[in-house]
Amino acid sequence: MSNNQLTIHEAHQLLKSKHLSSVELTKACLERIRQVDDKVRAFVTVTDELALKQAQQADKLIAAGDIMPLTGVPALIKDNICTKGIRTTCSSRMLESFVPPYNATVVERLSDGGAVIIGKANMDEFAMGSSTENSALFTTHNPWDLSRVPGGSSGGSAAAVAAGETVYALGSDTGGSIRQPAGFCSVTGLKPTYGRVSRYGLVAFASSLDQIGPITQDVTDCALVMNAIASYDERDSTSVPNPTPDYTRCLTADIKGLHLGVPKEYFVAGMQAEVGTAIKVAIKKLEELGAIIEEVSLPHTPYALAVYYIIAPSEASANLARYDGVKYGYSYLETDNMWQAMEQTRERGFGPEVKRRIMLGTYALSAGYYDAYYLKAQKVRTLIRQEFDRVFEKFDALVTPTSPTVPFKIGEKTADPLQMYLSDVCTLPINIAGVPAISIPAGFAGGLPVGMQIIGKPFSEETLLRVAYAYEQATEWHKKRPSL
Ligand code: GLN
Repeated sequence: MSNNQLTIHEAHQLLKSKHLSSVELTKACLERIRQVDDKVRAFVTVTDELALKQAQQADKLIAAGDIMPLTGVPALIKDNICTKGIRTTCSSRMLESFVPPYNATVVERLSDGGAVIIGKANMDEFAMGSSTENSALFTTHNPWDLSRVPGGSSGGSAAAVAAGETVYALGSDTGGSIRQPAGFCSVTGLKPTYGRVSRYGLVAFASSLDQIGPITQDVTDCALVMNAIASYDERDSTSVPNPTPDYTRCLTADIKGLHLGVPKEYFVAGMQAEVGTAIKVAIKKLEELGAIIEEVSLPHTPYALAVYYIIAPSEASANLARYDGVKYGYSYLETDNMWQAMEQTRERGFGPEVKRRIMLGTYALSAGYYDAYYLKAQKVRTLIRQEFDRVFEKFDALVTPTSPTVPFKIGEKTADPLQMYLSDVCTLPINIAGVPAISIPAGFAGGLPVGMQIIGKPFSEETLLRVAYAYEQATEWHKKRPSL
């Protein structure tokens, strides 16, 4: 195995025993980026100089016996997470040359752990999308089949991990943006409980739904990254002051007696039969491992999509009001007056999907429509959340497909936004309810990855990791890598 394919925990062992240096590991990833990224196109920015400098520092720490689990290991950061002195574009013309003066808390936490930041990952513009085709910069390709999408919006993060261009990555998830690309690229992605990971320095899309999380090659790595990034942060008012457990402690491979529910509404019309079959086989495996499997119903599930597409655009329209050409990023000044400058800045700076969301959200929040749309959506949101609460009185976790289909062709859904929105039906309800969920590799259909989603009650990330790890140890899917 070449060094760029090492997991975090494998790399850690080699770094610790001095069989590998961080500089060697970082160079292996940079070399891989040079080899394959003109095909995959996962990186908006490769921070090679900085990465090598950080790798040298890490090697010094290691030589002094000061090594933590992430020390010296390259990480890729989604380009909506602020990195001090490194361009953070949100894959938008609006922020194309925006260089943040500060680090997001998660970046700070990784740096405190000795991480090497190898670059910034492509995404759908402002995280609005499911394929990276909404990136104003370029589209990322799925390393399993370059004619297909890697999923989105954290498509660059997931594709780069699958392609061996980085050891792991951070993504953000508002309606599925960590889990769906993880599923499409056959890697592991966790959306933590709302409030578990600080959003400070995450460029806001929909503030009541956004959450940062890890995209990794396996479940152990996912637990290690969670250990580094999950903790209370006074700079994020929605951050929860719960103590952070050691997430590696639940990796026991023992799930005997756990109650796992299979919500029938997630096996939706429009789901590819092969995806359903792969997930059923995976569920059988969980049963063989000792879990108690039972079908369950979450009857409000079909409303989640409508609720999401009112709440998320409403919050987005408010959050994106700050891009007025005055304070941040792009500004167009070839006009006669301030209003025109503002209008033209937004007209030229935002892409079509972002404009669509701003219009949807502004409409839903406007006088006369607020009660009919926004308020009603909030009420249904409560019903969806209560439904999860009820089900979790009996079940330890729920198991579903991550997406109804395998990765689709580039261009296949761009003409029809609703088709694109439907690719998130299995992931959106989780953000609506604020609960955690993980996607792990669960097989292939026609040579393309299938992801399994495991959903838990608030702050039960340990249960999710425990189930995911047990499944992973009993299967080989996570070891498969695309040939590029
Ligand atoms: N695809 C969904 C959207 O476009 C979710 C995106 C996300 O999770 N950031 O809104």
